[in-house]
Amino acid sequence: MKETVSITFWGVRGTLPVPGRNTVRYGGNTSCVSIKFPDDILFIFDAGTGIKELSNRIISEKRTITNATIFISHPHWDHINGLPFFAPLYMNENRFEICGPSNGGMSIRQLISGQMDGIYFPVNIKRFGTAVSFRDLGEEAFHIDTIKIRTILLNHPGRCLGYRMDHGGKSICYVTDNEIYPEYSRDYNEVYLNKLANFVSDTDVLITDCTYTAEEYMEKIGWGHSSVNQVAELADRAGVKNLYLFHHDPDQTDDDIDNKLKMAQAVLEQRGSSTICIAPREKEVFHI
Ligand SMILES: [Zn+2]
Ligand SMILES: [Zn+2]
Repeated sequence: MKETVSITFWGVRGTLPVPGRNTVRYGGNTSCVSIKFPDDILFIFDAGTGIKELSNRIISEKRTITNATIFISHPHWDHINGLPFFAPLYMNENRFEICGPSNGGMSIRQLISGQMDGIYFPVNIKRFGTAVSFRDLGEEAFHIDTIKIRTILLNHPGRCLGYRMDHGGKSICYVTDNEIYPEYSRDYNEVYLNKLANFVSDTDVLITDCTYTAEEYMEKIGWGHSSVNQVAELADRAGVKNLYLFHHDPDQTDDDIDNKLKMAQAVLEQRGSSTICIAPREKEVFHI
């Protein structure tokens, strides 16, 4: 049997956790996705509140993590404020590398420790296990074991990185938060769009920011997030096989997310696209 890569969603929301009866189907936690490669290699993307669920799972399995990397897209709250609640980080037997872009002259280590300085959170990062390390990333390509990783600076306030992993003929892209300016916008940037399309081209899975409907986007131009229509067009144009809608606006209900999915599927159908579009839910697992 060919070894598979599994992707688990622990939080699919953007900006703010939204518990309540309107968010029970897709879940109310903010961004966190784990990807498990063969040989027990674990990658975690972002540490929004969803990472608490992943923490609970790892603790309940009573296992040691020897080969894990936490990739932070950028230090906005919805991508880092679950990290202090990720219990495996405090255990000396676990090995973690936390990677992400520096920002405003601060390293990723300083950015993470800044929210755990005794004022914003009572436990300091010095309490992390002895095998936790940090690594600043820019736009680059490197390997972790047999997995090739590439990064791209996204169109978002501050420095925000998107990631692409290639392994054994399969690829996954994690691209959030990101604004794709439509052609009618004065900030439309063809060079950036081509670069992004090239970055995600022919990927098996693109997990990406689709915060707004096309209508909502008209009121939120320049906020650093994309409309579901722009994302669907990009996915088709780049030959993405599976588009996973991610990072939903906190004011959107489960039904609103269902509607965004229909909107994306309508765009793809109109374009005669072979891209499959889904909206993953919290705790949903995909094997590729
Ligand atoms: Zn966000
Ligand atoms: Zn952001």
